[in-house]
Amino acid sequence: LSSGEPNDAAGRTRPHVMFVPSAGMGHLLPFFRFIGALSSHDVDISIVTVLPTVSAAEAEHFDGLFKDFPTIRRIDFHLLPLDASAFPGADPFVLRWEALRRSVHLLGPLIAGIIPRVTAIVTDVTMVSHVNPIAKEIDIQCHVLFISCATMMSLLTYFPIYLDKKEAQADIGDVDIPGVRRIARTSLPQPLLDLNKLFTKQFIENGREIAKTDGILINTFDALEPVALAALRDGTVVPGLPPVFAVGHLSSLAGEMKAEAEDTALAWLRQQPAHSVVYVAFGNRSAVSHEQIREIAKGLEASGCRFLWVLKTTVVDRDDVAGVRDVLGDGFLERVHGRGMVTKAWVNQEEVLKHPAVGLFLSHSGWNSVTEAAAAGLPLLAWPRGGDHRVAATVVVSSGLGVWMEHWSWDGEDWLVSGEEIGEIVKEMMADAAVRERAAKVGDEATKAVAVGGTSHKSMLDFVAKLNTI
Ligand code: UDP
Ligand code: UDP
Repeated sequence: LSSGEPNDAAGRTRPHVMFVPSAGMGHLLPFFRFIGALSSHDVDISIVTVLPTVSAAEAEHFDGLFKDFPTIRRIDFHLLPLDASAFPGADPFVLRWEALRRSVHLLGPLIAGIIPRVTAIVTDVTMVSHVNPIAKEIDIQCHVLFISCATMMSLLTYFPIYLDKKEAQADIGDVDIPGVRRIARTSLPQPLLDLNKLFTKQFIENGREIAKTDGILINTFDALEPVALAALRDGTVVPGLPPVFAVGHLSSLAGEMKAEAEDTALAWLRQQPAHSVVYVAFGNRSAVSHEQIREIAKGLEASGCRFLWVLKTTVVDRDDVAGVRDVLGDGFLERVHGRGMVTKAWVNQEEVLKHPAVGLFLSHSGWNSVTEAAAAGLPLLAWPRGGDHRVAATVVVSSGLGVWMEHWSWDGEDWLVSGEEIGEIVKEMMADAAVRERAAKVGDEATKAVAVGGTSHKSMLDFVAKLNTI
């Protein structure tokens, strides 16, 4: 037991959890959702907040969170300046991760000034190698809230060992994760093939540090990734990992919903027949080339299905100025009038996926999207883009949630996926009752997992119990 001032009427030390999130909606949303879930337990919560955020969507969601949960403390954190010219071409979000990592030493003094005393930190994987040592120095718990799948966590923790075992001169090949699965070289996050990349250096350092933390929270559930979770927990992947709490699916918060009148996408969906709409979205920061966008348009038109398409053409939403019409080319919107809706707005994806009109999700298989489809029991057609998407796509297939077009690639390579092929597979999946049934089963498991007594519900209680060991 470490010392702590009693901070409630009963003279007990209540846990005080300080969240240190990262940047990008794919990282922030699961943090906000987890914080929402944790706030119903008997704990104090603070969030380290860096302003301005990289994207407008992040700023809006921070505002919403603090409005909805007035007892959660906002702790402003000022980053040290980072010379972006030292990282030519780096993604703005990866740059923010690096700026965060380089400023993290300021957290120690910051925490020392906070009352009631902070008893645990929950941080993002992109920062854990810097945050965990600080937590250890001041003798508080440090947990990671992992925003990808358990399979990706197994790759993250095993990758440094894989490198240690590999002959120094040999290239990175397929990575056979003990007890989990072999991840083909082409399915690895591609920066990992280059050990000199900033992303790879962070990935290796973070991967080694995980074992020294106090707990790993993952937005997944046992029935979705039974094999990976078992192998993480029983030491097959890496011996000596801390407890793994599978607490997903993390549901969206009330504040994420737009007012009904503002939500044109949902309003449109309400007018469509059951299982008639393909929902198309590739995450909050996946810009797609104009050529590929036009092939997707052709495919959707050829499929004959109704569709709702969230279109993004830039990495950061504030830069997105091109009109939908300019990108799609002349006549498309007129031709699909009445059966297709294309929007550049932020939609409430979780609501969309749960809507009975939606029959299929064409997705880049970002992990949040996968868990949201799983919770909705909606079939997913995975067209992974980069990062961890192919690893997530292996889970889409193994869980029965959907289909992965392994040979489909994205721009940056010198070929496009043709509209014809897109149209055919969309049509096929929309008509396939077996596909729908398998996904619905995953949905049932998701519901059970978070219900009282379910695996994720129990994991959440175990985590809170761990927080109370102060
Ligand atoms: N999202 C949303 N509305 C949008 C775009 C994205 O609600 O218009 C949400 C989506 O539901 C998911 C997250 O943003 O929760 C995107 O995370 P994901 O892991 O799927 O992909 P990433 O954006 O990180 O590539
Ligand atoms: N990631 C990780 N360790 C790190 C940095 C990133 O495990 O040190 C994970 C991250 O959570 C994500 C994946 O690597 O699951 C790929 O990240 P990407 O570049 O696609 O960015 P993201 O989609 O997370 O914004």
